[in-house]
Order: sequence, then C-alpha cells, then structure tokens
Amino acid sequence: MKIVVLGGGVTGMFISYYLRKDGHSVTLIDAPLDGARTSKYNSGEITPSGVPVPTIGMGLILSRYFGRMGPIYVSPSVFLKNLRWFGIARKKMLGGYEEQIMGLAAKSLEIYKGFFNEVEMEIDRIEGITALFTEFSQVKEYAQKWGGQIIDQSEAYNMGYTGFAGGVRFSEEFSIHPGKLFDGLRKKLTEMGVQMILDKPADLKKVNGSVKCVVTDIGEVTGDNYVITAGAWTRKICVSLGYDPLILPARGLVMLFDTGGVRIVKETAMIEGNGISISQHNPNLLRVSSYFEIVGFKQSFDESRKKWVMGRVRPHLVGFDKLKLTKIEEGIGYRPCTPDQFPVIGKLPGYQNVFIASGNCRLGVTLAPATALVLRAMIDGKQPEEIDSKYVDPSRFVM
Ligand SMILES: Cc1cc2nc3c(=O)[nH]c(=O)nc-3n(C[C@H](O)[C@H](O)[C@H](O)COP(=O)(O)OP(=O)(O)OC[C@H]3O[C@@H](n4cnc5c(N)ncnc54)[C@H](O)[C@@H]3O)c2cc1C
Repeated sequence: MKIVVLGGGVTGMFISYYLRKDGHSVTLIDAPLDGARTSKYNSGEITPSGVPVPTIGMGLILSRYFGRMGPIYVSPSVFLKNLRWFGIARKKMLGGYEEQIMGLAAKSLEIYKGFFNEVEMEIDRIEGITALFTEFSQVKEYAQKWGGQIIDQSEAYNMGYTGFAGGVRFSEEFSIHPGKLFDGLRKKLTEMGVQMILDKPADLKKVNGSVKCVVTDIGEVTGDNYVITAGAWTRKICVSLGYDPLILPARGLVMLFDTGGVRIVKETAMIEGNGISISQHNPNLLRVSSYFEIVGFKQSFDESRKKWVMGRVRPHLVGFDKLKLTKIEEGIGYRPCTPDQFPVIGKLPGYQNVFIASGNCRLGVTLAPATALVLRAMIDGKQPEEIDSKYVDPSRFVM
C-alpha cells in the first residue's frame, strides 16, 4: 500500500517506521510551524508514571482558567473561543483516563526498550525518573496510589537535588535527549527508504468526499491512505475536512544549558509542586522544561517567565551558586491536547482513506510507539492490542 503521513514529529516518525517495516511505501511530509519543534523541545521522559501528575491534572488546569499561577495558564480569549473543549474537559467525557493511558504508556515503554535494542541510536539514555515533593506526606500518598520506590531527602540529595522531603522513583522508566531521538529517527527512516518531503507546509485535497492527494508547493502526493499526525496543528487540517478532533495547543518552554562538563544531576526529576522537569542527558547539557499554557500558538516567552522557572530551579540544585550555567538554546513546544486527555486514533469520521493519530498532549514522546502500533492495526483492519479502540475513537467528538 502507498501511505502518505502528514506530520513528522515523533508520532509521525514512529508511524512511518512501523508502516515501512510492514513493507508499505511511505511518504512523510513535514514542515516546522509557528516557531516550534515540539518533538525536539520537550523533557524526553518515557514515563508511564507521568500520566497522573497531580499538579498538572486537567482539574487543576481548569480551576485556574484565568489566573496566571505557576506553570499553568489559560488565556481568557482561548477559553471563550473553545467553550466546548473546556466543557468536556470539566465533565471528562470518557472516564478511566489514568488507568487506560498508564496501560498504554507501559506498553509503549516496553516497545521503546525493544526498539532501542533493535535500532542503534545515540540518545543519551538516563535510567530512572523521579517525582520530587517538598512534603513527605505527598511522597507517601503518591507511592501508595501509583507505586514506585520511595526515596528520602538524602537520596534526592545524592541525585543532585536539594530542598525536597523525598520522592518516588520509577527505576524501569528512562529519559532520552529528544533532539537526538528526533534526528536518529529521521536518519533511520531515510535508510529504510521512507520518502521525506521536508520543510513544505501541506494541505489535503478533498474531491467527492474522499481525500485525493496532499498538496505542497512542489506538487501533489497521492496515496492509498493518508495519515494526519500533525500534532497541535491536526485540528486545522481536520476541520478543513469537516471533522473537529478538538485538539488545542498547550505550549511549554525548554531551556538548555552548557554545564561546562559538570554533572549537576544524576537522574531526571519532576519538581511536582512547580511542574518543572530537570534532566542532564550528557556531561555538558542540562535541560529545564516547564509551563503548560493554553494560549494558542504564541511564539515567545517573556523574560520574566524564564526567570520564574530558574527562580524555582535554583534552590533545588545542589551547589547551584557555584555552578556556571550558560544558556545555549531554548525552544517552544505545543502539546496537542484533547479535552478528555485520550488521544484520537482511527479512521477520520466520514472518510475511508484518511486516518488520524494525535492528541497525546503531555505524553506524546512516551506514547508515540504504542500510538503507531494502534494505528497500524487499524490500517490493517484489525483491533489494536494496546488499548480498547473505544477510548481513542475519533467519532466520540462528533456531535
Ligand atoms: C515543554 C514540554 C515538555 C514535554 N515533555 C514530555 C516528556 O517528557 N515526555 C513525553 O512523553 N512527552 C512530553 N511532551 C509532549 C510531547 O513533546 C508531544 O506530545 C509530542 O512531541 C507530540 O508529537 P507529535 O508528533 O504528535 O506532534 P509534533 O511534534 O508537533 O509533530 C507534528 C509535526 O507536523 C507538522 N505539521 C503540522 N501541520 C503541518 C502541515 N500542514 N504541513 C506540514 N507539516 C505540518 C508540525 O510542524 C510538526 O513538525 C512535552 C511537551 C512540551 C512542550
């Protein structure tokens, strides 16, 4: 079969990988949009335990509609233009998010392990992910609910973090340098013979109720099937085909610092109270990421917002005052978020030859391989093994 994949982030690349492995002819079309590269600028955590993050749950986001508090913000104008999205988010149309998505993420973690055994790729992998808390009661509560190994203040200190009562460590999880995964996947796809059309914004052309081709400024690309996996931009493409997947962008900021060769933190951690992730994937590079802002595609962060993050990071890194950190890079990512927190994977309602795979929001890196396998099963006309398809059914948003 000839399959055209529109969107070359981590989801589109894993989809292309598995479809090509099955012997399909695959064309991947991608262009960076709105100054972002979400699949490069993220925290790189492959983390089923990240699913139920208590401080960035949708309930909390919604309770802070209009207040700029900490890392979470919803702009009033986006809220007013998307009342249906926020209405569903409040009611949570589908229940069981945590259990189902943790299960999907656990499968994805296993797929990743198999993938990295099979495909050689330099990704600066660091084992273990820890959620850190300032109150020990929070540590106990979290571990009781979600498992993991409790660590105390001194163990957190040994990892390079200070000012915490302790944390919950998930040793089977890991983090990677997402930019290296991105580049590695692109290289692998090229070697496998996936045709890449890069840096060309594209549109789908519809004729008589079915998609005829993808159009870029260098011409038209035809296929037997089309996959829309365009991250936070998926909604725009789908709406032009008469379907609304209710995906909103939630932007975040990533800052990369040169540590001058000093290993500052040994393991990746989430500072739970502040929604900040810290990791050091190699001796020179410290990664700090934060913010979950539903403000549309807004391309810059004020200096005060960057200072806010570093103001929260500083007291929590051992010996920060003596450290020399030089910011060398920063980037914005737009998480593709549905209101019920389940992705949308499956046939586009009303179409036989178009599929959608998007909406993994905060966990798109973690969930990309499992999402790809779910979609692959659907293209083959099979029931996916990774999740009950009702949870990801695109038609749940059709009125
Ligand atoms: C600060 C931050 C931290 C994060 N940390 C983690 C983490 O630790 N672990 C985790 O699992 N997830 C994390 N995420 C979420 C994760 O990064 C995203 O969910 C994931 O990258 C989404 O991948 P995607 O391939 O679906 O979309 P994208 O990466 O957005 O890829 C879609 C691509 O399609 C392109 N495109 C769109 N429309 C068109 C068009 N018309 N023509 C051509 N190209 C088009 C876009 O430009 C883009 O390149 C984080 C996100 C942020 C912002």
